[in-house]
Amino acid sequence: MSGEYSGVWVYLQQSKGDLLPASLELLAAGRGVADKLGQQNVGVLLGNNLEPLARKAIEHGADAVLLVDSPALETYFNLAYVDAIYALVKERKPYVFLFTSNEVGKDVAGRVAYRVPTGLATDNVQLAVEDYNNPALGQFKDLLIQVRPDFGTRLARIYTPKHRPQMATVRAGSFSPLPADPKRKGKVEKIRFEAPAYPAKVTEVAELPPQVPDLAGADVVISLGLGILKDGSGLPRDPREAYGHAQELKKLLEERYHMKAEIGATRALIYAEIKELEGVIGKSNQVGQTGSTVKPKVYIAVGISGALQHRVGMRNSSKIVAINLDPKAPIFKIAHYPIVGDLYEELPKLTKALGGAGSAS
Ligand SMILES: Cc1cc2nc3c(=O)[nH]c(=O)nc-3n(C[C@H](O)[C@H](O)[C@H](O)COP(=O)(O)OP(=O)(O)OC[C@H]3O[C@@H](n4cnc5c(N)ncnc54)[C@H](O)[C@@H]3O)c2cc1C
Repeated sequence: MSGEYSGVWVYLQQSKGDLLPASLELLAAGRGVADKLGQQNVGVLLGNNLEPLARKAIEHGADAVLLVDSPALETYFNLAYVDAIYALVKERKPYVFLFTSNEVGKDVAGRVAYRVPTGLATDNVQLAVEDYNNPALGQFKDLLIQVRPDFGTRLARIYTPKHRPQMATVRAGSFSPLPADPKRKGKVEKIRFEAPAYPAKVTEVAELPPQVPDLAGADVVISLGLGILKDGSGLPRDPREAYGHAQELKKLLEERYHMKAEIGATRALIYAEIKELEGVIGKSNQVGQTGSTVKPKVYIAVGISGALQHRVGMRNSSKIVAINLDPKAPIFKIAHYPIVGDLYEELPKLTKALGGAGSAS
């Protein structure tokens, strides 16, 4: 069956006249898979008057772009978008189809996979291409391996041996975009789309308020874990003290170094529902598998063990500083700057070393 299917398709999401940064990351992910398969990396772009964005996609790693350009697709409307994409999939038969793990990506991918029908693995953090041998199912060459954290502590590897395309959504922050290369050449193919009369229409698009804290857009994320509940000698500490130290460092980074800094947290700290942290640390601060994926210049993990579900959300940070009492804490496996010690001493020391007072309380 696989022989008739070819091409790694990447669904390109656009907003306010530009491709989403996550779509550029997805093009890099698709490029890696396409190179391993010896197939084309094809962008799929829907909207109205988007030819410049198709060119941008080629500069960032697409070999070709299928551009479904129609006034009917000006604003995102899932019925029309899914009809247009499903028709293309049926006609062109891609081998792999990738989407971003966000509201739109999952909305479109789920509906298209159901119609094809094929499987859909969501929230992947890595992709690979390998042969797959299963005594019950048979031997399969060059399958897309979709890697995501499972519901426990392991990474699951998901295969779609029999159905095509192999569809996956990929979490933003899992891949880095390829640098723009204006010399890259590729074909932009315009596809006609006649929208049928739908029983519903979009009358208004409301913008969500900007995310606070903006973890994904920060240069530095200072994240707090359950370690803030006790000091190095095991005595209980008021967690507001650790939060104050983190705030002082954030302020210093912003004012003196002009870096955008935000405070993150582990799920364990958030779910502990600590009264003293009410209103300052909540679900929107969570980094990890079921929180935000971040890729800052510097990630500072304070009193965090580094469980897999936390690591998948921050491991692509350029530099990782970790402060932990336990030299065997898993976070140290990925830390570039390990600091073994009591966070109540080491975090103020770090602030002081950067030129601050390091004396917040
Ligand atoms: C389905 C699922 C999804 C999940 N999603 C997420 C997610 O999105 N994000 C997430 O973070 N977790 C997630 N988790 C939870 C995850 O498995 C861990 O339980 C959690 O990350 C642990 O948080 P922690 O590091 O704060 O706590 P702990 O694991 O308890 O670590 C605390 C650390 O602090 C250190 N410490 C203690 N005192 C001090 C001190 N004074 N100074 C320095 N170090 C000190 C200790 O040595 C320890 O390593 C998920 C779990 C599941 C099952």
